[in-house]
Amino acid sequence: METVQAPTPTPETVSLEARSPFEMRVHLGENVPDTDVKSALKTGDLGFLHSFTTGSAVDGPGIRLVAWTTACMFRCRYCHNPDTWTLTNGIPVPLNRAIEEVQKYANGLKAMNGGFTLSGGEPLMQDRFATRLFAAVKQMGVHTAIETNGYFGERLSDEEIRNIDLVILDMKAFTRSQHELVTGGMHNEDILEFCNRLAELKRPMWLRYVLVPGLTDIPEEMEAVADFAASLGVVERAEILPFHQMGRYKWENLKLNYTLEETEGPTNESVAKAIAIFREAGLEAD
Ligand code: SF4
Repeated sequence: METVQAPTPTPETVSLEARSPFEMRVHLGENVPDTDVKSALKTGDLGFLHSFTTGSAVDGPGIRLVAWTTACMFRCRYCHNPDTWTLTNGIPVPLNRAIEEVQKYANGLKAMNGGFTLSGGEPLMQDRFATRLFAAVKQMGVHTAIETNGYFGERLSDEEIRNIDLVILDMKAFTRSQHELVTGGMHNEDILEFCNRLAELKRPMWLRYVLVPGLTDIPEEMEAVADFAASLGVVERAEILPFHQMGRYKWENLKLNYTLEETEGPTNESVAKAIAIFREAGLEAD
């Protein structure tokens, strides 16, 4: 019997707006030739995006428009968006098109004391696209924020950093061995250095820490992260993100080795303890 295959989605047939970053999207940029991918990364003329979502209240102050980039150098064991690890899973979006998308919402975002956030994946895997987009958004007078693991922070000049009003740093760990354990072998020296640089430049930061029972709920590790963050003098807020299983289906669909299958979310009590550690270091934490 003949079967009719569904047509492969193309960038033209996929909406830039997703219902949520948890929507699974793969292979959307695979027909972009390698040479174009390389030149896109070099110039920032083209970005690879999972999607845009509107109305976020958790990705920076006020109501945010969020663009989710694809590509990440980490392999965090708790990642809830492993479909964003691969650059070409994203939709290829010309820089001008991305700028237009933000422009559509610019007045509304300003009126709601919100702004634009670039998240991922890891946005600095596409640092030229990110910096050029931020520069254009700043020109609109819209507040800018990035959610980053900080690993490629050294790719940004001081001037490019100043175009980012808020750096939301997802800090995985403080000690190198723990960082490697969580992220699939990646060190964190460059991340700590980037944080120090942000402090020198007096750039506002928020810090995020994912609380995973049996993996990151180590008091000494959290104390070290909290003390370091407090010492920077620019961290306005620390957020404890309780681990959840909402990304599990993606690991299964992508046939990836998910090691947290049996792990449950943290109890309210352990979340409260983690928050207390950050508060004791002198940080605003929730
Ligand atoms: S840094 Fe973020 S996107 Fe990358 S693997 Fe870790 S949680 Fe996932």
